[in-house]
Amino acid sequence: MRAALKKKLGRVLRARRRELAASFKRSQETNRRLDDGPLDLADTASELYTQEFNLSLSEKELEELKLITDALDRLEIGDYGGCEECGEKITEARLKAIPWAPLCIDCQEKKETVPAIQSD
Ligand SMILES: [Zn+2]
Repeated sequence: MRAALKKKLGRVLRARRRELAASFKRSQETNRRLDDGPLDLADTASELYTQEFNLSLSEKELEELKLITDALDRLEIGDYGGCEECGEKITEARLKAIPWAPLCIDCQEKKETVPAIQSD
């Protein structure tokens, strides 16, 4: 991969990480506000919905944040752009679209068609 492209993707990754960190902070503040004081009964349902929405958003964002941090680490050690599953190179087109993608398109598709079943 060209150094210029790596540099560009590194910039995209860091910008996205900043964005996520800011949005994560905002949703935490919203959740804290909802914990304070009694709510009007009429408002409770929508407030709860908002709270759940914020929580699920944070979870999704946290996952993305983790992938971004991993990708930045790999950039750092010069191991960026390989698929974690099969070791093949991830295409530039895919990395331009999703710079934090840990898997090549084939492995990603396999993963999505066979959903992981979690049981205790
Ligand atoms: Zn792969």
